[in-house]
Amino acid sequence: MDKKTMTKVIFIMVAAMAVALLIRGIVLHSKNDKQAQTNVEELPFTEVEPEEKPYSGCIVVVDAGHGGKDPGKVGVNGTLEKDINLEIALLLKDELEGEGITVVLTRYDDSGLYDANSSNKKVQDMRARLLIIEESKADLVVSIHQNSFGDASVRGPQVFYYETSENGANAAELVQNALNEDLEIARPRVQKGNDNYYLLTKCSNVMVIAECGFLSNPEEEALLNDKEYQQRIAEALKRGICEYLESQRVAPMDIKEPEEPVI
Ligand SMILES: [Zn+2]
Repeated sequence: MDKKTMTKVIFIMVAAMAVALLIRGIVLHSKNDKQAQTNVEELPFTEVEPEEKPYSGCIVVVDAGHGGKDPGKVGVNGTLEKDINLEIALLLKDELEGEGITVVLTRYDDSGLYDANSSNKKVQDMRARLLIIEESKADLVVSIHQNSFGDASVRGPQVFYYETSENGANAAELVQNALNEDLEIARPRVQKGNDNYYLLTKCSNVMVIAECGFLSNPEEEALLNDKEYQQRIAEALKRGICEYLESQRVAPMDIKEPEEPVI
């Protein structure tokens, strides 16, 4: 083999190796693509059809009271109401979404609904919440709060509604009963009408305020900080909410036999 032929052979071998490497690269790439597609298909949420859920089409606003510069009530051991409200609201969101309910939150983190340079943050915050509620077209609004009282022995959940709202009273009764029963409250309270809380008076949607417990009672403050107890609260709230949504369903019309045609 002369030098020229030798150079040719080497050139052909190098070219062949390059082509082989290129083909291998393409095959591996398409394999990875296939694997990625398979992983996406395996995600559980794609397997559940939304219409299978019992409350698909229902909309609920979950309003975590206070936030940002407004801590709400402060517990005997320093718990901030705004933190407990948000934690329960996020748990409740998951619970309701599990039933197919569309959930609108007024806040997702520890931030108030106001501008940093606003001169009246509380008013701006309340108006922003009201706007979210009105735009949501919600079937029910549930505002999460915690209570406080001078007498440290006072404890237990209490639900409020706008005093002239029949649907509000109905929703509040169902939510109050669910909290009393599922949290095994020793001295259960009764839901109460209110005519001065800003959101209750301004909101045209059916609304309840769920005060889940008293931060002024040290035992209840500890419970309200407990993840398991928060989950029990979220599940109890969900039960009351679902019972209310169920009560609002229009009964199906009687199906009548078609009349005999007149000849
Ligand atoms: Zn509050």
